[in-house]
This record gives sequence, structure tokens and C-alpha cells, in this order.
Amino acid sequence: MGREHHARFPRTRARLSAATGAALLALLAFLLTALAAPPAAAGGDGHRHRAVRAVRTHEKARERVDRLREADARPAAVEQAEERRKAVRADLWDLLWAGARESGDPVAVDPSGRAGHCPFGKRSRPPERRPSAWTAPTRRYWLSAGYAAKGSRWAHRHTGQDFAVDSGTPVYAVGSGVVRVTTCGDGFGNQVLVRHRDGYFTQYAHLSRIDVRRGQRVVAGQRLGLSGRSGNVTGPHLHFEVRITPYLGSQVPPLPWLRRKDVQVSGASALR
Ligand SMILES: [Zn+2]
Repeated sequence: MGREHHARFPRTRARLSAATGAALLALLAFLLTALAAPPAAAGGDGHRHRAVRAVRTHEKARERVDRLREADARPAAVEQAEERRKAVRADLWDLLWAGARESGDPVAVDPSGRAGHCPFGKRSRPPERRPSAWTAPTRRYWLSAGYAAKGSRWAHRHTGQDFAVDSGTPVYAVGSGVVRVTTCGDGFGNQVLVRHRDGYFTQYAHLSRIDVRRGQRVVAGQRLGLSGRSGNVTGPHLHFEVRITPYLGSQVPPLPWLRRKDVQVSGASALR
């Protein structure tokens, strides 16, 4: 039975290829045309504007959920608004994922951070005294480049808030969550991305050392690593970003986001 089957196999394959040859050629021609055409999801202003619109739509949907919750609305109404928010986020996620892969964003192409050889320290542990549910990402800072600032280091606008600190200053998780990725080696240098329970991601970049691992649970005030000047920087600082998805392009203003969580990040040199 086995031998018979093997003996017949090549003939079956020959018949198959004869029957499908024309179809395969047509498919090949189609694929070549598709490859020659510019990919729809690749960078470009149209793509970026779509993402900006989706971020705005998401934030409106999230505000609606917040309002309903504050007003003690019917659970069904809150649920419905939350579903809508999640649908907007899913669309944004799809939109950005392809672009992130194409641009070589390590969060998309090397989520384990292996290619960049991250400078790992010992795994951090939760702090003995938790500051509160949410906290600032570092201490003894002054605020340097703000969100949406213009500058030669950024292709468009600055996507986060910079906290000027000396190299080696502890950097903390702003709230509890799970370490989504640690990546090293691109313009953000050594970075940690944490996913929080409210669905948002926080990013901590240009670190000199990383003290957490992918998948690790962290709480507010738990050390993620030390600040530094890795990546595309002119001096040591923490680049802090809040995103709707893990990918660049879904950022929201980080200080108002922290204020909603009762974290007041004061202006220049207030804590120095
Ligand atoms: Zn920055």
C-alpha cells in the first residue's frame, strides 16, 4: 500500500501541475504587479493622517466612557461605549502594525529585544512602600522637550514628554501593568514598554540599564531601569510616552493623561 502510494505520487503531481500551470502563472503575474506597486500601508502622510484621526476618535470614545462611568450610567451603556472604544483601537492597531514592521520599529519586528543586546540589570522587585496607584516616571527632574514640540531630532513632532535627569537616575513604572517589550538599538535606544489595565501603554526610552523583563508584572513606582543617553539624544534624559497601541503613531499627550490619574507633573525645576 505504502509503495503503491509512493509510486503513484509523482504522476499525481505531474497532473496537478499541468492542470494548475496556467492558474499559477496568472497568480505569479498578479503577485509581481502587487509587489511593484507601492504598499498601501507604507509610511506616507495619508497613512499618518489616518492614524492621527483614529487617535482623536479613540480619545473621544474614551472620554465618553469616562463620563458615563462618572455619571454612574447603566452598566449596559458603559459597556457599549467601551466596546466602541475598543473597536476604534483595534482599527488603529491594524493600521500602525504594518507600518511599524515596515519602518523596522523593534517593538514590531524584534519584540524580544534580542537583536539589540539590552544592558539588563537584575530584575527589579515591587517597592516596599507603594507611592499610590499612579506616580511620576522619575524623580528630581526638570521638564525639557514637551509633547508635540518641533525639533530637528524628530521627523514630525515630538511624540512624548522629556524629563531631564542625570544618567543613572531610577525610572519607575507610572502604574501597575505588564512589561510588553524591552527593545534596544534603535533611535529610542534602550526602552521599556508597559501595558496598563486601562489599555494604554507607557514607554520609557534612552535608558542606560533595563531592570525588567518581557512579561514581568510591575506596580506603580517599581524600578524599570536607569535613565541614560542611549539612542538618538543630545544629552541624558527620560523620554516618556503614552500610547493607545504598542506602536509609534498612537501617542496621546502624556501629562494630561497623568493628571487624569491624579499625578501632577510640575513644571521646570519644581522638584530639583
Ligand atoms: Zn523625547
